[in-house]
Amino acid sequence: MLKVDNLKVTVEGKDILRGVNLNVGEKEFHVIMGPNGSGKSTLALTIAGHPRYTVVDGGIFFNGEDITEIPANERVKKGIFLAFQHPEEVEGVKIMEFLQTILNKVKGMDLADAYDRITERLKEVWFREDILKRFINVGFSGGERKRFEILQALLMEPKLLILDEPDSGVDIDSLSVISMKIEELYRRGTSILLITHYGRILQHLDPSILKVHIMKDGEIVMSGSGELVSEIERRGFQKIFEECGCDE
Ligand code: ADP
Ligand code: MG
Repeated sequence: MLKVDNLKVTVEGKDILRGVNLNVGEKEFHVIMGPNGSGKSTLALTIAGHPRYTVVDGGIFFNGEDITEIPANERVKKGIFLAFQHPEEVEGVKIMEFLQTILNKVKGMDLADAYDRITERLKEVWFREDILKRFINVGFSGGERKRFEILQALLMEPKLLILDEPDSGVDIDSLSVISMKIEELYRRGTSILLITHYGRILQHLDPSILKVHIMKDGEIVMSGSGELVSEIERRGFQKIFEECGCDE
């Protein structure tokens, strides 16, 4: 479904991704781990179409179509949704209006149906209806920000859900509901590309469904099954890089 082919990306003239190859099939659950600065967020944002990232070589294909050059909102319509590592505050935009607008634009729902869907689903990620009158992420805790990203994913039901560190900066209770909802979306047919630095969230997920990749210096240097996660936790990235000769 998603094919990232020899993707090279620069940011403000600096080489960040140095030839990433990745295939995510239908109903697959992929995990990308890697040290800080290895290019995980760059990969996520480039797949989602963030204009700051310049593709200088290779490409991104979605269901066979080359989407390397199309704008971010077109990618959302095709079913790609990115939950941000650092969701930003949007002063002046109320959550209900925002969610109704995206359901209308992306799913073609009328405002009344959208309203019903939103009030129904927000409880699943522990929000009360009074949240809907507030501005996006303004005054939100880390856990609330990440749960709001998950709420958007639940509403969008994307074909491909990319999650950039949904486990960073969240309390343990938020983490359990976030991981439960991600796994639920996966079971209902969404493909997942989950980025995590600590792997904390992976303790809440069934390891037998995971395909794990490790990034280092803008490349995927190793791929394996869910067992790779416990190896990383036991030994750390550095030891693994030394052994595979990925350090040269
Ligand atoms: P990760 O998510 O794995 O921690 P990033 O993709 O955020 O890594 O960053 C990879 C590298 O790209 C880092 O060296 C970072 O400093 C650089 N980088 C990322 N975004 C920008 C940006 N907007 N401007 C300049 N450098 C950036
Ligand atoms: Mg990052």
